[in-house]
Amino acid sequence: MKMYDAVISGAGPAGCSAALTLARKGRSVLLIDKARFPREKICGDGVTAASTSMLEEMGVLELLRQKPGSLNLFKGATFVSPDGTVVRGRILQNGTLQGDSYVIPRTDLDECLVSRVRDYASITFLDNTTVNALVMDGDRARGVSTSAGEFSGSVIIAADGAWSPIAKQLDLWNRDKIHQGFAMRAWFSGVEGLGDSIELCYDKSMLPGYGWIFPAGQKRANVGVFLLTRFTDQRSTKRLFERFVNEYAYAKAKLKYATLEPGTLKSWPLPFGSFAGRRGRGNVLLAGDAGSFIDPITGEGIYYALKTGRYAAEAVAHALERNDEFAALTRYEQLWRGEFSNRVYFPGYAFQHFMNNEWFVDTFMRYTARKQHRADLLADVVAHNRKRRDLFKLLNPFY
Ligand SMILES: Cc1cc2nc3c(=O)[nH]c(=O)nc-3n(C[C@H](O)[C@H](O)[C@H](O)COP(=O)(O)OP(=O)(O)OC[C@H]3O[C@@H](n4cnc5c(N)ncnc54)[C@H](O)[C@@H]3O)c2cc1C
Repeated sequence: MKMYDAVISGAGPAGCSAALTLARKGRSVLLIDKARFPREKICGDGVTAASTSMLEEMGVLELLRQKPGSLNLFKGATFVSPDGTVVRGRILQNGTLQGDSYVIPRTDLDECLVSRVRDYASITFLDNTTVNALVMDGDRARGVSTSAGEFSGSVIIAADGAWSPIAKQLDLWNRDKIHQGFAMRAWFSGVEGLGDSIELCYDKSMLPGYGWIFPAGQKRANVGVFLLTRFTDQRSTKRLFERFVNEYAYAKAKLKYATLEPGTLKSWPLPFGSFAGRRGRGNVLLAGDAGSFIDPITGEGIYYALKTGRYAAEAVAHALERNDEFAALTRYEQLWRGEFSNRVYFPGYAFQHFMNNEWFVDTFMRYTARKQHRADLLADVVAHNRKRRDLFKLLNPFY
């Protein structure tokens, strides 16, 4: 049986990013996905500046540019507070990251990721194949068992999403409700008054989560609610979604003549990066949602999937150079923790408490709305075009 350098389960943003990084380092990869592409992924489809600069490097943006209707540029972010204050920020393109931000239907984004993967001879891609379990040899995983038989790899990367069978098997799966979100979304057509901004509505019934309207061109919008399981009972998701689209004044006005596209109302969990614990065991690493890496305050996950996929691959390449596949996990932990733990996950988790306070959100939004450059700063940070620590400027009353 052929022995691959790495076997990757899941070909979403995390799995494709890992596969491309390894292939560029001259490593052999087996990438397996249970779906046949193009396939749908339940998502808000907001792709921030940080993600697009990675997609550009990966050669994926180039493919998306050739697909009409897939890149829907947004140039601003509008925030609505519980008392109805509206903050309209522009994404200034003078931030530190300098990518464009888009709403990209995931069917298109993931199809282009997979398409880029197919360009590499060193990546064997098996779609329509389900990974069932790791095949263990003592403490070491020697491969995976799938619906198409067994496959072997020096290292395994689980990038198979929020329900990862590999994370479950290793007992590393995030089942901690404190560090999870839940979202429901639908596509609407015939939406009036969509501009070139994404819209985030902080209704008091959803705090510290929000309802969103993301414009995708041709009067279509991706509409949903993002809730934090720690603060909002997950069982109320459908009711809150219906309240948002039918009763919440701002959304109701936009969706008055719109139609919910049949079959698109769906929900899915969001495992947060604030979840404690290692993201792997032995020679198995978890990337993207399988490893619980979503931003606990915005719900952004695509960038963290792309980045942790890349980090996992770099760690694997580093370990294989030393002929020590167990070294990958130590390296991986250093990379992702060094980059995200103190900058994104812990502050985001702590900030949930502030955003759960209606008075705080109203006061913050009113203060931000008073000056355009404050609103622009907030839009830039949410679009991941500027470092989050820049938000501290908003604590200065003279800013
Ligand atoms: C409603 C909602 C809205 C969201 N909105 C946004 C947003 O606007 N912007 C943003 O940045 N993030 C958003 N997110 C988060 C984002 O969708 C995820 O973080 C991102 O998709 C994670 O990528 P991934 O590659 O880790 O996993 P996925 O994209 O879930 O990919 C996992 C892949 O693994 C495959 N797979 C699963 N099980 C198996 C198996 N057993 N064998 C083989 N293959 C398998 C699947 O078919 C899939 O292709 C949202 C999430 C939700 C639920």
